[in-house]
Amino acid sequence: MKERILEFFKRYNIAVKRSGVGVAQHHININCPYCDKDEKFTMGIDLKTGKFGCWWGKDRGHAGVNFYKLVAKLLDVSLKEAKSILGMRVMLEGEADFKNSINKMFEPRVLEVEGEISKVKKIQVPEEFKTIRKDGTTGRFWTYLEARGIDPLILTSRYTIYCALQGRYAQRIIIPYYYQGQLMSWTARTIRDGRYEDIRYKDLSVGESIIHVKHLIYNYDELVRDSGDGLFFCEGVFDCFNLEQHLPLGYRATCISTKSMQTAQIGMIKKLSKRYKTLYLLLDEDAMMETVGIGSELRCFVNNLQVLMLPSDIKDPGSMSEQQVQNLVRGIEEKACKAD
Ligand SMILES: [Zn+2]
Repeated sequence: MKERILEFFKRYNIAVKRSGVGVAQHHININCPYCDKDEKFTMGIDLKTGKFGCWWGKDRGHAGVNFYKLVAKLLDVSLKEAKSILGMRVMLEGEADFKNSINKMFEPRVLEVEGEISKVKKIQVPEEFKTIRKDGTTGRFWTYLEARGIDPLILTSRYTIYCALQGRYAQRIIIPYYYQGQLMSWTARTIRDGRYEDIRYKDLSVGESIIHVKHLIYNYDELVRDSGDGLFFCEGVFDCFNLEQHLPLGYRATCISTKSMQTAQIGMIKKLSKRYKTLYLLLDEDAMMETVGIGSELRCFVNNLQVLMLPSDIKDPGSMSEQQVQNLVRGIEEKACKAD
């Protein structure tokens, strides 16, 4: 239990206080997600049991015995998702033997079809979502993109992108996901790197989405109308943004928003495989096992998929320079020439 809890906070980059004033023995403290004021590290978590409680708001419901409930609150996901988030990691951690883990990944996964389509029929862009402009109150989002090496002008003209100054998604860049012309869900990336311990990506929950982002392919509608030599599948939406601004003509990129594959996504990828000569799977450097797993799963459905590994000096496709992207494509094309 202890390792699982600590691993969770580490992985999601959530600040914890491990000792000092207000931290009980065998406990850690975090900023209470139920508190709407800026109370610092008021929530204690018992590392042995997962029980949690905030000293400021214990009688206001800021407490519980079920750690999953806290995870669901922190990540803004359903209880079921919280369980799978923690469960998946444990399976991987528990496997000391690499080969054994790979075999596990090849086993047919129980797919949660139930979670894919929610009861929500229509969602709308909230009023607080604004267009990102260079000047004025949304200027800081523009600057954030520039700092990440993403050209804001290209980005905002190419995709539908919003930002929020207030509300649940304050200080986040919002990336809506559409399917068949309809808004299905969105994910929201914080622009407060480093200074605040925010969750990097906050998705609209399964219950509030028509189809959750983790079941969709980003920018699918446009990609399925387009065609070309290659389509890259990366993990995160910023990987996709970065690749698309550097890729030569004829190549496109998208993201799967997850390290595992969902049924609905497989259906979309099958359709996309008919529009592009080759599909390339290009996940982050630390997702080697997941890449092998997804690759083998997809090859059952599409026959033009290639799994690519990033050069060891590159962490993720989002951090690749224009030159590195071009080298990658050149390498692919040279290999294809030799194969012909
Ligand atoms: Zn609280």
